[in-house]
Amino acid sequence: MTVGLEDPPADFTCAICEREASNRFHWSPRDYERPPVCKSCESLTGYSWTGAARRRTAPTGGTARDKRDAMRIGALADAIGQLAARQQWEVQHGIT
Ligand SMILES: [Zn+2]
Repeated sequence: MTVGLEDPPADFTCAICEREASNRFHWSPRDYERPPVCKSCESLTGYSWTGAARRRTAPTGGTARDKRDAMRIGALADAIGQLAARQQWEVQHGIT
């Protein structure tokens, strides 16, 4: 173990896509998967109709760690918003 570097977080299940996120192949704290959202859900908002990935806009200020924290919070907020919209749609269309 290198002195001065934090240990990678333990494997966890992503709160959004429910896939297993592992730090097995991440050696830099900059690249670590950090709970509760996996790196994929953190950086992607979806896909365009051509199949190209749409990326979340990273904040312009702050440290790399701060930017990733902000993107994870944004990902969780988006997930809650999408869930709310789906529930509203189900109520409007009589699906319970
Ligand atoms: Zn995920």
